[in-house]
Amino acid sequence: MFDLIIRRARLVDERLVDIAVKAGKIAAIGEVSGEAKQERVLDGEIYLSAGWIDSHVHCYPKSPIYHDEADCIGVATGVTTVVDAGSTGAEAIDDFYQLTRAAQTQVYALLNIARTGILTQNELADLSQIDKPAVSAALRRLPGFILGIKARISSSVVGENGIKPLRLAKEIQQENGGLPLMVHIGNNPPNLDEIADLLTSGDIITHCYNGKPNRILNPQGELRFAVKKALQRGVRLDVGHGSASFSFEVARRAIALGILPDTISSDIYCRNRIEGPVKSLANVMSKFFSVGMTLPQIIDCVTWKAADGLRLTQKGRLEPGFDADFTLFTLSDEPRPLLDSEGETVQGQQHFVPLAAVVAGQWNVTDEGKAKHVFDL
Ligand SMILES: [Zn+2]
Repeated sequence: MFDLIIRRARLVDERLVDIAVKAGKIAAIGEVSGEAKQERVLDGEIYLSAGWIDSHVHCYPKSPIYHDEADCIGVATGVTTVVDAGSTGAEAIDDFYQLTRAAQTQVYALLNIARTGILTQNELADLSQIDKPAVSAALRRLPGFILGIKARISSSVVGENGIKPLRLAKEIQQENGGLPLMVHIGNNPPNLDEIADLLTSGDIITHCYNGKPNRILNPQGELRFAVKKALQRGVRLDVGHGSASFSFEVARRAIALGILPDTISSDIYCRNRIEGPVKSLANVMSKFFSVGMTLPQIIDCVTWKAADGLRLTQKGRLEPGFDADFTLFTLSDEPRPLLDSEGETVQGQQHFVPLAAVVAGQWNVTDEGKAKHVFDL
Protein backbone atom coordinates (compact mmCIF):
# COMPACT_ATOMS: atom_id res chain seq x y z
CA MET A 1 0.00 0.00 0.00
CA PHE A 2 1.46 3.32 -1.12
CA ASP A 3 0.89 6.56 0.79
CA LEU A 4 0.15 8.55 -2.34
CA ILE A 5 -0.23 8.02 -6.08
CA ILE A 6 -0.28 10.98 -8.47
CA ARG A 7 -1.68 9.91 -11.84
CA ARG A 8 -1.40 11.49 -15.30
CA ALA A 9 1.41 13.87 -14.38
CA ARG A 10 3.08 15.51 -17.40
CA LEU A 11 6.86 15.52 -17.31
CA VAL A 12 8.90 18.21 -19.05
CA ASP A 13 9.69 15.73 -21.83
CA GLU A 14 5.87 15.59 -22.32
CA ARG A 15 5.52 11.96 -21.15
CA LEU A 16 2.49 11.20 -18.96
CA VAL A 17 3.33 9.13 -15.88
CA ASP A 18 2.05 7.97 -12.52
CA ILE A 19 4.19 8.44 -9.42
CA ALA A 20 3.83 6.48 -6.20
CA VAL A 21 5.14 7.68 -2.84
CA LYS A 22 5.86 5.68 0.28
CA ALA A 23 7.41 6.95 3.54
CA GLY A 24 8.39 10.25 1.94
CA LYS A 25 10.29 8.63 -0.92
CA ILE A 26 9.47 7.93 -4.54
CA ALA A 27 8.42 4.27 -4.64
CA ALA A 28 7.59 3.88 -8.33
CA ILE A 29 7.26 5.94 -11.49
CA GLY A 30 5.80 5.08 -14.90
CA GLU A 31 2.66 2.99 -15.06
CA VAL A 32 1.83 2.30 -11.43
CA SER A 33 -0.66 -0.31 -10.32
CA GLY A 34 -1.69 -0.85 -6.73
CA GLU A 35 -3.50 0.98 -3.99
CA ALA A 36 -2.69 4.13 -2.08
CA LYS A 37 -4.09 5.87 0.97
CA GLN A 38 -4.44 8.96 -1.19
CA GLU A 39 -4.73 9.22 -4.95
CA ARG A 40 -4.67 12.37 -7.08
CA VAL A 41 -5.60 12.13 -10.73
CA LEU A 42 -4.40 15.13 -12.73
CA ASP A 43 -5.85 16.32 -16.03
CA GLY A 44 -2.82 15.37 -18.09
CA GLU A 45 -1.91 19.03 -18.70
CA ILE A 46 -0.27 19.84 -15.37
CA TYR A 47 3.50 19.49 -15.35
CA LEU A 48 5.32 17.72 -12.56
CA SER A 49 9.07 17.96 -11.98
CA ALA A 50 11.34 17.05 -9.11
CA GLY A 51 10.87 19.65 -6.38
CA TRP A 52 12.43 22.98 -7.24
CA ILE A 53 15.60 23.81 -5.33
CA ASP A 54 16.53 27.49 -4.97
CA SER A 55 20.32 27.40 -4.48
CA HIS A 56 20.68 31.00 -3.26
CA VAL A 57 18.14 32.67 -0.96
CA HIS A 58 18.14 34.68 2.28
CA CYS A 59 15.68 33.55 4.94
CA TYR A 60 17.15 34.07 8.40
CA PRO A 61 14.15 35.89 9.88
CA LYS A 62 16.32 37.84 12.33
CA SER A 63 18.78 39.17 9.75
CA PRO A 64 18.79 42.96 9.91
CA ILE A 65 19.42 43.28 6.16
CA TYR A 66 18.27 40.28 4.13
CA HIS A 67 15.49 38.57 6.04
CA ASP A 68 12.48 36.53 5.00
CA GLU A 69 10.36 33.57 6.07
CA ALA A 70 11.29 30.27 4.46
CA ASP A 71 7.75 29.32 3.46
CA CYS A 72 7.10 32.70 1.79
CA ILE A 73 9.93 32.04 -0.66
CA GLY A 74 9.52 28.25 -0.54
CA VAL A 75 6.34 26.19 -0.72
CA ALA A 76 4.12 29.25 -1.24
CA THR A 77 5.83 29.68 -4.62
CA GLY A 78 6.27 26.02 -5.58
CA VAL A 79 9.81 25.71 -4.20
CA THR A 80 10.38 22.63 -2.04
CA THR A 81 13.98 23.33 -0.94
CA VAL A 82 15.82 26.57 -0.27
CA VAL A 83 19.50 27.08 0.44
CA ASP A 84 20.33 30.19 2.42
CA ALA A 85 23.56 31.63 1.04
CA GLY A 86 25.54 33.03 3.93
CA SER A 87 23.02 35.09 5.90
CA THR A 88 24.51 33.56 9.03
CA GLY A 89 28.00 32.65 10.14
CA ALA A 90 29.16 30.52 13.05
CA GLU A 91 27.53 32.81 15.63
CA ALA A 92 23.90 32.63 14.51
CA ILE A 93 23.76 29.42 12.48
CA ASP A 94 22.32 27.38 15.38
CA ASP A 95 19.54 29.91 15.91
CA PHE A 96 18.82 29.91 12.18
CA TYR A 97 18.66 26.11 12.19
CA GLN A 98 16.17 26.06 15.11
CA LEU A 99 13.98 28.79 13.62
CA THR A 100 13.54 26.97 10.32
CA ARG A 101 12.65 23.51 11.67
CA ALA A 102 8.94 24.40 11.75
CA ALA A 103 8.85 25.37 8.06
CA GLN A 104 7.15 23.17 5.46
CA THR A 105 9.94 24.15 3.08
CA GLN A 106 13.20 22.27 3.50
CA VAL A 107 15.87 24.74 4.51
CA TYR A 108 19.63 24.30 4.22
CA ALA A 109 22.49 26.75 4.61
CA LEU A 110 25.81 27.79 3.22
CA LEU A 111 27.78 29.07 6.19
CA ASN A 112 29.25 32.53 5.83
CA ILE A 113 33.00 32.34 6.50
CA ALA A 114 32.59 35.56 8.52
CA ARG A 115 31.56 34.76 12.07
CA THR A 116 28.73 37.33 12.06
CA GLY A 117 27.27 36.44 8.67
CA ILE A 118 25.64 39.38 6.93
CA LEU A 119 24.95 41.54 9.98
CA THR A 120 26.59 44.36 8.08
CA GLN A 121 27.39 44.73 4.37
CA ASN A 122 31.17 44.50 4.87
CA GLU A 123 31.53 41.28 6.81
CA LEU A 124 34.95 40.48 5.26
CA ALA A 125 36.53 43.94 5.67
CA ASP A 126 37.97 42.74 8.99
CA LEU A 127 39.91 39.49 8.56
CA SER A 128 39.56 38.63 12.25
CA GLN A 129 35.92 37.88 11.38
CA ILE A 130 37.17 34.73 9.65
CA ASP A 131 37.48 32.39 12.59
CA LYS A 132 38.55 28.98 11.28
CA PRO A 133 37.95 26.96 14.49
CA ALA A 134 34.46 28.50 14.80
CA VAL A 135 33.65 27.50 11.20
CA SER A 136 34.86 23.92 11.74
CA ALA A 137 32.90 23.63 14.99
CA ALA A 138 29.69 24.84 13.29
CA LEU A 139 30.20 22.31 10.48
CA ARG A 140 30.57 19.54 13.06
CA ARG A 141 27.45 20.65 14.99
CA LEU A 142 25.15 20.86 11.96
CA PRO A 143 26.49 18.53 9.27
CA GLY A 144 23.11 17.79 7.66
CA PHE A 145 22.09 21.42 7.58
CA ILE A 146 25.23 23.21 6.41
CA LEU A 147 25.91 22.15 2.83
CA GLY A 148 28.97 24.31 2.23
CA ILE A 149 30.47 27.74 2.77
CA LYS A 150 29.86 31.18 1.31
CA ALA A 151 32.30 34.00 0.68
CA ARG A 152 31.17 37.36 -0.68
CA ILE A 153 34.10 38.70 -2.68
CA SER A 154 33.24 42.20 -3.86
CA SER A 155 34.64 45.60 -2.95
CA SER A 156 31.88 46.69 -0.57
CA VAL A 157 32.21 43.43 1.38
CA VAL A 158 35.99 42.92 1.53
CA GLY A 159 37.03 46.57 1.91
CA GLU A 160 40.81 46.78 1.56
CA ASN A 161 41.34 43.04 1.78
CA GLY A 162 41.17 42.24 -1.93
CA ILE A 163 41.53 38.54 -2.65
CA LYS A 164 42.72 37.54 0.86
CA PRO A 165 39.28 36.46 2.18
CA LEU A 166 38.92 34.13 -0.84
CA ARG A 167 42.32 32.55 -0.12
CA LEU A 168 41.14 31.93 3.45
CA ALA A 169 37.85 30.50 2.17
CA LYS A 170 39.79 28.04 -0.01
CA GLU A 171 41.87 27.02 3.03
CA ILE A 172 38.71 26.50 5.11
CA GLN A 173 37.26 24.42 2.29
CA GLN A 174 40.34 22.19 2.11
CA GLU A 175 40.61 21.85 5.89
CA ASN A 176 36.98 20.69 6.08
CA GLY A 177 36.84 17.93 3.51
CA GLY A 178 36.46 19.96 0.33
CA LEU A 179 32.86 21.00 0.83
CA PRO A 180 31.06 23.23 -1.73
CA LEU A 181 32.15 26.87 -1.82
CA MET A 182 29.88 29.55 -3.25
CA VAL A 183 31.58 32.82 -4.19
CA HIS A 184 29.58 36.00 -4.71
CA ILE A 185 31.02 38.36 -7.33
CA GLY A 186 30.10 42.03 -7.63
CA ASN A 187 31.97 45.29 -7.86
CA ASN A 188 35.75 45.15 -8.14
CA PRO A 189 38.32 45.07 -6.67
CA PRO A 190 39.10 42.26 -6.52
CA ASN A 191 38.98 41.72 -10.23
CA LEU A 192 36.99 38.72 -11.48
CA ASP A 193 40.08 37.29 -13.21
CA GLU A 194 41.86 37.04 -9.84
CA ILE A 195 38.81 35.40 -8.28
CA ALA A 196 38.30 32.92 -11.11
CA ASP A 197 41.97 31.88 -11.06
CA LEU A 198 41.62 30.66 -7.46
CA LEU A 199 38.52 28.54 -8.02
CA THR A 200 38.61 24.78 -8.54
CA SER A 201 36.22 22.04 -9.64
CA GLY A 202 32.82 22.27 -7.96
CA ASP A 203 33.23 25.84 -6.71
CA ILE A 204 30.20 27.99 -7.52
CA ILE A 205 30.27 31.55 -8.90
CA THR A 206 27.00 33.25 -7.97
CA HIS A 207 25.64 36.42 -9.65
CA CYS A 208 27.11 34.94 -12.84
CA TYR A 209 25.12 37.20 -15.22
CA ASN A 210 25.61 40.43 -13.28
CA GLY A 211 25.89 43.60 -15.36
CA LYS A 212 28.69 45.26 -13.38
CA PRO A 213 32.25 45.76 -14.67
CA ASN A 214 33.13 42.45 -12.98
CA ARG A 215 30.86 40.61 -15.42
CA ILE A 216 31.91 37.32 -17.01
CA LEU A 217 32.19 38.95 -20.44
CA ASN A 218 35.03 41.21 -21.53
CA PRO A 219 34.34 44.60 -23.19
CA GLN A 220 34.28 42.85 -26.59
CA GLY A 221 31.41 40.66 -25.37
CA GLU A 222 33.50 37.49 -25.29
CA LEU A 223 33.88 35.23 -22.27
CA ARG A 224 36.80 36.34 -20.11
CA PHE A 225 39.74 34.02 -20.51
CA ALA A 226 40.07 33.43 -16.74
CA VAL A 227 36.39 32.45 -16.53
CA LYS A 228 36.74 30.18 -19.56
CA LYS A 229 39.65 28.36 -17.88
CA ALA A 230 37.68 28.14 -14.62
CA LEU A 231 34.69 26.58 -16.39
CA GLN A 232 37.02 24.08 -18.04
CA ARG A 233 38.23 23.11 -14.55
CA GLY A 234 34.63 22.41 -13.47
CA VAL A 235 33.69 25.68 -11.79
CA ARG A 236 29.91 26.11 -11.77
CA LEU A 237 27.75 29.13 -12.62
CA ASP A 238 24.80 30.14 -10.43
CA VAL A 239 22.39 32.93 -11.38
CA GLY A 240 21.67 34.52 -7.94
CA HIS A 241 19.44 37.17 -9.57
CA GLY A 242 18.93 39.49 -6.59
CA SER A 243 18.24 43.20 -6.60
CA ALA A 244 21.47 44.11 -8.42
CA SER A 245 22.94 41.03 -10.06
CA PHE A 246 21.07 40.00 -13.20
CA SER A 247 21.43 41.64 -16.60
CA PHE A 248 19.36 40.46 -19.58
CA GLU A 249 22.09 41.80 -21.86
CA VAL A 250 24.80 39.68 -20.22
CA ALA A 251 22.58 36.59 -19.98
CA ARG A 252 21.47 36.81 -23.63
CA ARG A 253 25.03 37.17 -24.87
CA ALA A 254 26.44 34.45 -22.59
CA ILE A 255 23.72 31.97 -23.49
CA ALA A 256 24.17 32.74 -27.19
CA LEU A 257 27.84 31.84 -26.65
CA GLY A 258 26.74 28.55 -25.06
CA ILE A 259 27.54 29.61 -21.50
CA LEU A 260 24.47 28.29 -19.72
CA PRO A 261 23.97 28.45 -15.96
CA ASP A 262 24.39 25.30 -13.89
CA THR A 263 21.81 26.57 -11.44
CA ILE A 264 19.06 29.19 -11.63
CA SER A 265 18.55 30.81 -8.23
CA SER A 266 16.80 33.91 -7.00
CA ASP A 267 18.86 35.56 -4.20
CA ILE A 268 15.43 36.41 -2.86
CA TYR A 269 14.55 38.11 0.43
CA CYS A 270 11.49 40.01 1.56
CA ARG A 271 12.19 43.29 -0.22
CA ASN A 272 13.12 42.04 -3.68
CA ARG A 273 10.28 39.49 -3.35
CA ILE A 274 7.64 42.14 -2.68
CA GLU A 275 9.01 45.05 -4.72
CA GLY A 276 10.78 43.09 -7.45
CA PRO A 277 12.72 42.55 -9.59
CA VAL A 278 13.00 39.01 -8.17
CA LYS A 279 9.43 38.28 -6.91
CA SER A 280 9.87 34.50 -6.92
CA LEU A 281 12.05 31.71 -8.26
CA ALA A 282 9.33 31.01 -10.84
CA ASN A 283 9.58 34.62 -12.06
CA VAL A 284 13.36 34.31 -12.36
CA MET A 285 13.01 31.00 -14.22
CA SER A 286 10.53 32.58 -16.65
CA LYS A 287 13.17 35.13 -17.64
CA PHE A 288 15.30 32.32 -19.05
CA PHE A 289 12.72 31.60 -21.76
CA SER A 290 13.43 35.16 -22.94
CA VAL A 291 17.16 34.55 -23.24
CA GLY A 292 16.91 31.35 -25.23
CA MET A 293 16.61 28.43 -22.84
CA THR A 294 14.10 25.59 -23.17
CA LEU A 295 11.71 24.19 -20.57
CA PRO A 296 13.82 21.08 -19.85
CA GLN A 297 17.01 23.18 -19.62
CA ILE A 298 15.42 25.55 -17.11
CA ILE A 299 13.99 22.74 -14.99
CA ASP A 300 17.36 20.94 -14.93
CA CYS A 301 18.85 24.08 -13.30
CA VAL A 302 16.46 23.94 -10.34
CA THR A 303 16.36 20.16 -9.88
CA TRP A 304 19.19 17.68 -10.46
CA LYS A 305 21.86 20.23 -11.30
CA ALA A 306 21.10 22.16 -8.10
CA ALA A 307 21.13 18.92 -6.10
CA ASP A 308 24.44 17.84 -7.66
CA GLY A 309 26.10 21.21 -7.04
CA LEU A 310 25.23 21.17 -3.35
CA ARG A 311 25.49 17.38 -2.91
CA LEU A 312 21.86 16.90 -1.97
CA THR A 313 22.13 13.25 -2.95
CA GLN A 314 18.50 12.34 -2.21
CA LYS A 315 16.98 15.18 -4.22
CA GLY A 316 16.51 16.53 -7.71
CA ARG A 317 15.57 13.36 -9.59
CA LEU A 318 12.32 11.55 -10.30
CA GLU A 319 13.64 8.07 -9.57
CA PRO A 320 12.67 5.40 -7.04
CA GLY A 321 14.47 5.94 -3.74
CA PHE A 322 14.77 9.72 -4.11
CA ASP A 323 12.87 12.14 -1.84
CA ALA A 324 9.23 12.57 -2.83
CA ASP A 325 9.59 16.30 -3.48
CA PHE A 326 7.65 17.56 -6.50
CA THR A 327 6.65 20.84 -8.02
CA LEU A 328 3.41 20.95 -10.01
CA PHE A 329 3.02 23.82 -12.43
CA THR A 330 1.56 25.05 -15.68
CA LEU A 331 2.89 27.44 -18.29
CA SER A 332 1.02 30.62 -19.11
CA ASP A 333 1.21 32.26 -22.56
CA GLU A 334 -0.06 35.60 -21.35
CA PRO A 335 2.53 38.29 -22.24
CA ARG A 336 4.01 39.87 -19.12
CA PRO A 337 6.82 42.42 -18.63
CA LEU A 338 9.94 41.04 -16.97
CA LEU A 339 12.47 43.37 -15.35
CA ASP A 340 16.16 42.66 -14.75
CA SER A 341 18.41 44.34 -12.15
CA GLU A 342 19.70 46.93 -14.64
CA GLY A 343 16.37 48.48 -15.54
CA GLU A 344 15.81 46.58 -18.79
CA THR A 345 12.31 45.23 -19.35
CA VAL A 346 11.51 42.50 -21.83
CA GLN A 347 8.07 41.27 -22.77
CA GLY A 348 7.97 37.67 -21.54
CA GLN A 349 5.95 35.30 -23.69
CA GLN A 350 5.83 32.29 -21.40
CA HIS A 351 5.68 32.02 -17.62
CA PHE A 352 5.85 29.40 -14.95
CA VAL A 353 2.73 29.18 -12.78
CA PRO A 354 3.48 27.02 -9.72
CA LEU A 355 0.39 25.18 -8.45
CA ALA A 356 1.72 23.00 -5.63
CA ALA A 357 4.87 22.02 -3.80
CA VAL A 358 4.91 18.44 -2.53
CA VAL A 359 7.50 17.94 0.21
CA ALA A 360 8.23 14.35 1.26
CA GLY A 361 4.76 13.44 -0.02
CA GLN A 362 2.97 16.33 1.77
CA TRP A 363 0.90 18.73 -0.37
CA ASN A 364 1.23 22.50 -0.19
CA VAL A 365 -1.08 24.11 -2.73
CA THR A 366 -0.06 27.63 -3.83
CA ASP A 367 -2.54 30.51 -4.03
CA GLU A 368 -2.65 30.05 -7.82
CA GLY A 369 -3.30 26.33 -7.33
CA LYS A 370 -6.15 27.12 -4.95
CA ALA A 371 -7.63 29.70 -7.32
CA LYS A 372 -7.63 27.23 -10.18
CA HIS A 373 -9.24 24.46 -8.07
CA VAL A 374 -7.14 21.90 -9.91
CA PHE A 375 -6.51 19.78 -6.83
CA ASP A 376 -10.06 19.75 -5.44
CA LEU A 377 -11.06 16.17 -4.82
ZN1 LIG B 1 22.75 36.59 -1.69
